[in-house]
Amino acid sequence: MAAWIERRNVGLLALLLALPLASGALAQAAGAPAGQAPWTVRPEWVKADEDFLAGDALQGRGSATPDEAKAAAWVASQFKHFGLVPAPGMRSYLQTATIVQPMLGGPPVLALAGRPLAGVTLLSAPAEEVRGRLAVAASDDPAALPAADVVAVGSAKAPLFAIARAANARHVKLLILRQSPETDRIWQQMGGVTRMPAYLEGDAPHATAIAILPAAAFDGLISQAGQEVALDLPGLTLARRTTTNAIGFLPGSDPAAAVLLLSAHLDHLGRRPDGIVMHGANDDASGTSAVLELARALAAGPRSRRGILFVCYGSEEIGGFGSAYFGAHSPVPLAKIAANIEFEMIGAQDPKLPRGTLMMTGFERSNLGETLAAHGALVAGDPYPEQNFFQRSDNYQLALKGVVAHTISGWAVTPTYHQPTDTVANLDIPFMTRAIQSLIEPVRWLAASDFQPEWKSGGQPGR
Ligand SMILES: [Zn+2]
Repeated sequence: MAAWIERRNVGLLALLLALPLASGALAQAAGAPAGQAPWTVRPEWVKADEDFLAGDALQGRGSATPDEAKAAAWVASQFKHFGLVPAPGMRSYLQTATIVQPMLGGPPVLALAGRPLAGVTLLSAPAEEVRGRLAVAASDDPAALPAADVVAVGSAKAPLFAIARAANARHVKLLILRQSPETDRIWQQMGGVTRMPAYLEGDAPHATAIAILPAAAFDGLISQAGQEVALDLPGLTLARRTTTNAIGFLPGSDPAAAVLLLSAHLDHLGRRPDGIVMHGANDDASGTSAVLELARALAAGPRSRRGILFVCYGSEEIGGFGSAYFGAHSPVPLAKIAANIEFEMIGAQDPKLPRGTLMMTGFERSNLGETLAAHGALVAGDPYPEQNFFQRSDNYQLALKGVVAHTISGWAVTPTYHQPTDTVANLDIPFMTRAIQSLIEPVRWLAASDFQPEWKSGGQPGR
């Protein structure tokens, strides 16, 4: 699960969908249709997956690092061992993409009409130098932001995040804001380090740079609308790194049928600058374990009508790049993917949900969750809508392209989230095992059926 810039504490809105949970429901979900051998997920398999992925050898599987590549190679070898084949049109189980990371070589220089301004703080830098005429917003209303290359917004009462998002949507190259307690707090939270957004090679870099000016300098600036503004980035370099997705395919009996996509992300935060390894046992070695154990279970069973793609992505934590690349280069046309279920952080039970129940992000956006629930899946709505979890994992990259795509989680606000304590020792392996077990028959049903999940009105993002 990726971090989210907006961390407003707006109180928790209860969005629990009342699901009848009879005692023994888990046991019922673990059963198998007549004539089909039941499958039992074994806790020692789950533990073994975790011990390797979240163990010391992989050093926290940093995004787009050789450790992530090792994790992908191991997942690929497991896929092969379980009997999956490379996806249609692919010769191997690995898909790689290049991520471009801009890096500053020295302090950036912001100039107005050729004169450098003092006291500039760059919250977020662009991947190239910016030139443009200064436009001054009449208000801080994000909806009324001018669509110009360089925009200054004073007296920002609207949250900075909302202004930045509106600027990004209007392709503003440089947003200039007046220093405030909010900008100070955000800069402090960022550790006083300018953010340099990475991007997939081949994609145009598209992220609004954000500069903060001290109050007096800002007030002088906005009296000079129409003047030339230049942001120079001395010593800018573009580093290229490889990220890796592991992809396995379980062919269906009907080649014309749509396929399912079961996914998770391989990567985590790697080794911190202070040397501490962020193991990411829950985030998201646990989801990777779910994909592996579902692959093991389904490959051992009878062939289903629909094929199933099992995908473990790289570089989720730094911007969903593995899934974005997959979405643009899917071995199966996206229109032929009936549904995507991403697994994230199933290593602990959410105390707000009934025992044994998992949450599905964006539950109310489509009819997938309710239909799976009707077929025995113990999934309920996301009790934390203010956290925007639907947008914070790989499912979102596919949802943006129209695929009905959700993330299933155990406890998405666990205290170990993005902490050094996210280790195997702090996982609830029996819960994980039951959670994976509980999904086998609902997924088998979905793979056998011709049910085509659909977005509800207003549910598809970007529509
Ligand atoms: Zn995460």
